[in-house]
Amino acid sequence: PYDVLVVGGGPAGASAAIYAARKGIRTGIVAERFGGQVLDTMSIENFISVTHTEGPKFVASLEEHVKDYDIDVMNLQRASGLQKNDMFELELDNGAVLKSKSVIVSTGARWRQLGVPGEKELQNKGVAYCPHCDGPLFEGKDVAVVGGGNSGVEAAIDLAGIVKHVTVLEFGAEMKADEVLQNRLHSLPNVTVKTNAQTTEITGTDNVDGLTYIDRETEEEHRIDLEGVFVQIGLIPNTEWLEGVETNRIGEIVVNKANATNIPGLYAAGDVTDNPNNQIIIAMGDGANASLGAFDYLIRN
Ligand code: FAD
Repeated sequence: PYDVLVVGGGPAGASAAIYAARKGIRTGIVAERFGGQVLDTMSIENFISVTHTEGPKFVASLEEHVKDYDIDVMNLQRASGLQKNDMFELELDNGAVLKSKSVIVSTGARWRQLGVPGEKELQNKGVAYCPHCDGPLFEGKDVAVVGGGNSGVEAAIDLAGIVKHVTVLEFGAEMKADEVLQNRLHSLPNVTVKTNAQTTEITGTDNVDGLTYIDRETEEEHRIDLEGVFVQIGLIPNTEWLEGVETNRIGEIVVNKANATNIPGLYAAGDVTDNPNNQIIIAMGDGANASLGAFDYLIRN
């Protein structure tokens, strides 16, 4: 059996596995796709001490660092269930069962997509999901934020300080963001809000050049010329495969300051947790913290 079995091979999982292996304990890492969301990222400029890098390059060095240690890397393997008897038993899609004394879940999250034409094709070419990451790439340009909840309105306020103009498109008749955020948004000179707006297409050939939406009240179609679209309609944590683990309203795993869950010996790190900010540097810190937590659990049990 493993001492520490990490589920998920993004920044959080890689960090957790390295910290565990450095303790000289038996460590494994199971990943559906090693690298995680970073593989879908073009430009990374906020990983402190690295001025600029690209997702695939970052993942290659992540992998190199993991391979420097005695870690069983089981890539392209999806976990489908977790039981705890005398030990944890992790079930894989291929039918295999892996046993471990402790488990760190770092299965990350995925951005909810609009599912309109142009969204997939223009991802990283003007379609973005992370304002902290990609906002500065749109300096001086016109952009839209799709979604008028807290994350959409926070994104719009953030972007308004960088870009030329922000149009917020909310599907419902009213934005759902907290009032204080809405007030702040309405105080900004370079923001327009459209409610009852159903985004129907993102257009552009090499890069985004606009979007179309239907005014759900008048049923008229409109077009806006712009260079960026930030989709902010929610982040879905990859926790569907787990049972009996405490999660919050939106399915994120609830952790304490040691990244421990409600189940002794089970830790969680990165975007899959209820920690509020989802960034590479935070996921890595979280992975390290979870791993040290798991090590502490092991020496006490
Ligand atoms: P993830 O990266 O989501 O990794 C999850 C891992 O778990 C993957 O290996 C996945 O395959 C695996 N997995 C999922 N389910 C299962 C399962 N059932 N069984 C086995 N394995 C499973 N952050 C920044 O700091 N800077 C940026 O510039 C930046 N740009 C971004 C751009 C884009 C387009 C996106 C999508 C995100 C960006 N982020 C950026 C956010 C950052 O990528 C995430 O915060 C970070 O990757 C979270 O790491 P994680 O390890 O928690 O999860």
